[in-house]
Amino acid sequence: MSALSPKITQLFSQIDDQQNDMLAELITWCNINTGSTNFEGLSQLSKVLCAKLSEFGEAEFVELPDRVVVNDKGQEVSFPSPPIIRLSKEQESKPSVLLVGHYDTVYEKDHSFQVCTDLGNGLINGPGVADLKGGLSVMFKALECLRENGLIDEIGIEILLNPDEEIGSPCSGAYLVERAKYHDVGLIFEPSLPDGTLVGERKGSGNFTVRVNGKSAHAGRDIEAGRNALVHLVTLFNEINALHGQKEGLTVNIASIQGGGALNVVPDLAVGRFNCRIESNDDIEWLEERLASLIAGHDSVEGYQVALFGGITRRPKPLTKANQNLQNFITETGSLLGIDVAYRATGGVCDGNNLSQSGLPNVDTLGVRGGDIHSINEYMVIDSLAERTKFVALILMRMAKGEFDFIRDSEKLKEA
Ligand SMILES: [Zn+2]
Repeated sequence: MSALSPKITQLFSQIDDQQNDMLAELITWCNINTGSTNFEGLSQLSKVLCAKLSEFGEAEFVELPDRVVVNDKGQEVSFPSPPIIRLSKEQESKPSVLLVGHYDTVYEKDHSFQVCTDLGNGLINGPGVADLKGGLSVMFKALECLRENGLIDEIGIEILLNPDEEIGSPCSGAYLVERAKYHDVGLIFEPSLPDGTLVGERKGSGNFTVRVNGKSAHAGRDIEAGRNALVHLVTLFNEINALHGQKEGLTVNIASIQGGGALNVVPDLAVGRFNCRIESNDDIEWLEERLASLIAGHDSVEGYQVALFGGITRRPKPLTKANQNLQNFITETGSLLGIDVAYRATGGVCDGNNLSQSGLPNVDTLGVRGGDIHSINEYMVIDSLAERTKFVALILMRMAKGEFDFIRDSEKLKEA
């Protein structure tokens, strides 16, 4: 493709001029706490974002199932989930793109990190500036640009903004997997690395909780009558930990153990949590069988009950033919703007894994450039707001103009 048209060049210089406004708006979003379990904060921002999306069409809230967790006392408790914000602009017989971003952050309501600070040198520090609220700003402005260029009706668009990505999308994941079946391409607005490198392949991941019930007894008078739940869990965890590395790329992280109290009491309850990551879809069944058999072995010991909760919720995102095709197109599009695009594999997971599960090719790091995410040092490179907006806008324009050869790894479903 030749150089950018005068029309696009003009639109892009407008984006440069609007970067300060984008930043000001982004700061207002980041200063609203949206830790994944802060229902009020998430609800507050969801209304702001829904109003913003309504500029492009009829935005709606999609209600989600409750979030169920096993607490440290081993009880299953449920919490209401804030909604997905959705906008759907179908264009019959035209290709369609699914745009996804999350509006939760890892910083909970009582976290010390609550507001944005200008760091100078073109950097801003703040909760969610990079992960991922900066990406939402990019997504919206790129759509505006597509509209200004008269192309917004030339391609089907569905936008989903979910409230629980940072805790593994327990409520929204199934909906994302389902919607991914109806599109040709997915674009997700997680931050790229500070130098602009995008993420290619991703491992799969699952969070698990184990509850062990034993029997309490006096440690002095009657220790033999007790069944020590903590010791039983530790023994089990040693065996689970030994699965680490048994398959290429399989990792096990034993993350926490809760239980016990007074020194003279045999603990009758222990709750432990661990995370597993896998490289290949073929290993999911293997892992699940191993875990089930280890749990069953420990459950069958007299005096104990052992229960496992959770599972692999994000499948690996391999570099399929369709993903490679999309990556190549995005690299080519970057070069038109003087952006060198590189890809790197990671063990980290995101909603790109969920879209891949339905065979939808996707690039999931099209948000702003930033770093130190999930820490109080999280920052965004301010100029990347305009830079990535132009990048995404050009990707969408070229797709709308038929310059991309859409292929999927599995057949796209038609809306009923
Ligand atoms: Zn994120």
